[in-house]
This record gives sequence, C-alpha cells and structure tokens, in this order.
Amino acid sequence: MSSRRVRHTARLTPPLLLAAALTAFALTPSAGATPTGAVPTPAATPAPKQPEATGTGGAVASVSAEATDIGIDVLRRGGNAVDAAVATAAALGVTEPFSSGIGGGGYFVYYDARLHKVFTLDGRETAPSTADQNLFTENGKPLDFWTAVDSGRSVGVPGSLLTWQEALDRWGTRSLAQSLRPAEQLADHGFVVDQTFHDQTAQNQTRFSYFPATAALFLPGGAPPAVGSVFRNPDLAATYRELEHHGVDALYRGDIGRDISSLVQHPQVDPASGWYTRPGAMTPADLAAYDVRAQAPTEVDYRGLDVYGIAPSSSGGTTVGEALNILNHFDLAHTSQVQYLHDYLEASRIAFADRNRWVGDPRFVDVPTRALLSQRFADSRACLIKPDSSLTSPLAPGDPRHPSGGCVDAGTPAPTTAEGTHTTHLTVADRWGNVVSYTLTIEQTGGSAMTVPGRGFLLNNELTDFDFSPAVAGVPDPNLPGPAKRPRSSMSPTIVLKDGRFDFALGSPGGASIITTVLQVLTEHVDRGLSLEQAIAVPRISQRNLAATEAEPAFLGSADEAGLTAIGEAFTLNPEIGAATGIQLLPDGRLQAAAEPVRRGGGAAAVVDPEP
Ligand code: GLU
Repeated sequence: MSSRRVRHTARLTPPLLLAAALTAFALTPSAGATPTGAVPTPAATPAPKQPEATGTGGAVASVSAEATDIGIDVLRRGGNAVDAAVATAAALGVTEPFSSGIGGGGYFVYYDARLHKVFTLDGRETAPSTADQNLFTENGKPLDFWTAVDSGRSVGVPGSLLTWQEALDRWGTRSLAQSLRPAEQLADHGFVVDQTFHDQTAQNQTRFSYFPATAALFLPGGAPPAVGSVFRNPDLAATYRELEHHGVDALYRGDIGRDISSLVQHPQVDPASGWYTRPGAMTPADLAAYDVRAQAPTEVDYRGLDVYGIAPSSSGGTTVGEALNILNHFDLAHTSQVQYLHDYLEASRIAFADRNRWVGDPRFVDVPTRALLSQRFADSRACLIKPDSSLTSPLAPGDPRHPSGGCVDAGTPAPTTAEGTHTTHLTVADRWGNVVSYTLTIEQTGGSAMTVPGRGFLLNNELTDFDFSPAVAGVPDPNLPGPAKRPRSSMSPTIVLKDGRFDFALGSPGGASIITTVLQVLTEHVDRGLSLEQAIAVPRISQRNLAATEAEPAFLGSADEAGLTAIGEAFTLNPEIGAATGIQLLPDGRLQAAAEPVRRGGGAAAVVDPEP
C-alpha cells in the first residue's frame, strides 16, 4: 500500500502542446461555451480518428482524437508511457467528461520494460467512513437505482487524480503540472462537438437539467451542444491550473475537496425541477484519508502467455483469469467458430457465477483471489462444459477454497447485478517498451449528474456498484457497502507478456461486459489468429451468468447465432458492447495501436513514427 506522496512542482516551462499534432484550426461557433467561457483562441482540430496505426517510437489508443494526440505529443517529446498515459487521461477528462475525469476513479496497470515486471494501482472510489450496509436502503427497502444514481449518496471519494500522481511518482519522468497542462489548454480552447458527445449529452438532458451547475456547463441555452460547435470548459481549465500550482492536496486537502464534499452533502438542485436528491455523507476527512493502493497484479498462464490484470477491488483480473484457466481445457485454435464461441460463453458464465459470490473489497472481505486464479479450481469448473449443450443460468458458484474433484456447484447462485455501461480505456506504449493499460470511469455516462460548481467536472456515482441489499438471503455478500469500502468493479485493464516481454495490452469500458469484451478480444486474437484490430472489430456477445446472452446486432441472424441456438443458447439484443483499445507488438518490432472502427463513434489509434 502506498502513502500519498506529493511532488510540489514549480510552474514549468513552455506549454507543451498540441502544437505538432494539432495543426489546423476550426473556426466554428462557440455554442458550447459556458457563461464565463469566452476565450480568444478557437478550438484546434486534431487529425481525423483512425482505428489502427502501425509504426515505431511509441503508440497511444484512446476513444478521443484530442486525447490520443496529446499522448503522442508527450511521447514524441521524450516522455515515457506513464507520462503519456496521465496526459491522455487528463485530456479525456476534457473530451470524455461523462465517462472519466478527476471526479472519478480507475485501475492503472503498468509494464516496466527494464524490470520485466507488471505493477498495478487501484484508484477506485471509496465510500465515506460513515457508510454502512444500509447506504442504499430506506425504510428497510433498497432505493430505486436511478434515485440513488442522481444523488450525493452515490458519490465515492474520487481516486483518479491521486492515481495520476502516484503513477508519475513511481514510474514517470514528468511532473503532474506538466502532465495536466495540455489538457488545461484543451479545456480552455475547446474541442469540436461530435455526434457521440452530442448524443451522450442528449441522453442525460433531463437529469442534467436538475442540477444548475451541470445544466450551465453541458446544456448551454438549455440544449445539448450542437454537433460541429466548440465546447469549452474554462472552469475545468482553471481547476487543472490550480492543481498544477498546488498539487493533489488542492483536491484531497484543499478548497477543491471542500467544494466536492459540500456539494455531496448539500446537492444543489433546481427547485423548479421537482427533483429531490439524497445527500451523501462525504467529508473533507474522507478525502484526506483516501489512498491509492499499489498491489500485485493477477496473473494466469494462457497458452504459454502471461496474462496480467487487476486484482480486487476489481473483479476484472480474477474473472478474466478464471475464464482463461477454464479455456486452457479447450483447443480453441483448432475447432469450429461455433464451438469456440460456445466454450467462450460457458467459461464466462461459470467465472461470473464465482465472481458474484466471492469478489469484493479485500480490505473488508476475505476474497480467495489466489484460489480463484488457480488452475486446480478452474479444472473443477471446466468439466461442467459440454460440447453439445449450454449450461443454464443462473449457475451456482463453486468453492475455490475447497475445489472438489468433480463438477459440483457449491451453493445458491448470486445474481449479476446492474452496472453502468460507460467508462473509458486507454493504452500506451513507449519507445523503451514500457506499457500502460488504464481504465477509468465516473460510472454511469454522466456520473451522478452533479457538476462541482465553478470547477467544471462531474462527480461519480460509483457507489451504486455496491449491492443495495444482500444478493442472496443467507449467503454472505462480499459487495455490500461499508465504511471506506470500495465497490466491486469489472474494469479489466490487461497486459500480456510472452517470455517476459510485452506482447499486447487491451481494455474496455462497458460495466460487467468489460470482462467479456476483454475475454472475447483476447481469445479472438490469441486463439483465432486475428490481429488485435480485427479482434476488436468483430461483433460481440456477452454471457454473464444471465438467462440470455447479449449480442450485438451484427451477430444476430448470423450462422454462428443459429449454431449456438441449436445447442441451447438464447440471445438478446445489446446495441453496443464495449469500446476497446489495445496495442500489440508485431513480430518485426513495430507497434500496432488499435481502437474501435465504429463503436462509440470510433476510437483514435496513433503512433509516433508511422510506417512509411
Ligand atoms: N462502474 C463500472 C465498474 O467499475 C464501470 C462502468 C462502465 O464501464 O460502464 O466496473
């Protein structure tokens, strides 16, 4: 565990910038400006998004063209993967404010090429010290989910800013101030609103309108910013400037933190909205007590590769890891596509049954992490899978502490509970071979819908990832709220090594479907021979120990669906699953960055020196 270490930085020289990458300037209307948002410089237009880039010198893949450009610029100027990842994350706080930012948290996985070692940071949001298991109950009943989301009650102590500082202190070469400055300028100058940003704002319009500070920022003139207009966030630029001058203490022990806790305790709602929002209990002391946890990664051996992920409080590493251990029983490279998909779905179904029963915050519950990741436990679960019929969900969990020799389930199934569907993932590699795989979030798209007045960022609703009431009567639930406890996550930033060297890295947003997205992309790549770019593009299906398997539209009606249905699988539509990014090292030593061609409006992959 790490203590907070603050690097005090003097104001550093010259602004780094978008310069090389952001050459053209778009003179577009400034409809997105906040009332205080008039700035002299027009928004910069980055290079168009592309889902694949191959070359040398370093690579970045994120969902945002501006954020990827900023990361590439850091690499080009000699920064390493951690420097670039933090700068990219800070920029995502500007262009993806509904999915990330200093009001949220996340999980950071780092491969150090010199040490040939993988490290992780758990920057998950944390419940206030006064929380107990009744955080989301009233009159003995669980609160309605959306009532909880749009409230101070759902806001966890944010971890992202301290994660950035911790990562820079441990492995970076640049200061926090240097890393924030490009994003500060991006917030000041603005970016051009695309369809995805417009649509995400429109989806949130009603609840954003409850909160005056949010409406003023994201609903200029009472409506979502028009596609093609420029969105500026001078309040966020000023917040980043304050952090550049005063360091993370401005948030964890200073006035930004006081503004956060004051808003959580006294949410400011438009009286005309008729909305009543529950206050939360977060205090300045909760912010001061926050720590980023440095902990060992999860690790499994899959087809001779070492797959590293994030340990609890996320369920990502254990669930992806257990499913891979199960899949070690099947030769997915030399079987039909239908049989491969069947094995993938069944392994995921089983791993979710175990995840739901056993994984929570390890500071509060005895999570059998090592046992969940053991091949012996996976062996005792893999034998449930039959080639010609599907298992039925909900499937009961196994007991990793006492894996039986036979295929016997150990108890009552615990349901897969609701989780948000948005977040963001970035992947960075540098010229020295260091790699970052980082997933960050504010939970729902738009988080709690509460913008800190005058600060330009939304607060998370991460505490709604707790179970509101015990999942199964009479069975211990590892994911009930508790004091200073972290809600279980599904985030699965992953780094894969071959013979101790970087091979590829990936991650995705998507709530609990993060786990299945990572698992599907990873197996499509490793077993089915697709490049990472191709593996990211294929239609996704997601089985999370639910009666029906979710499938994207392109999968429904396919021969693969027919083949799986014939052996008992049932499908339901999910319009879009995940928004992955990744980087792979090609056999000739070049890097290939990969992002989504279509999902979430497409992602942005780039390299420092593109191949000729
Ligand atoms: N809150 C979710 C988790 O931690 C992430 C939200 C999302 O990806 O949409 O797993």
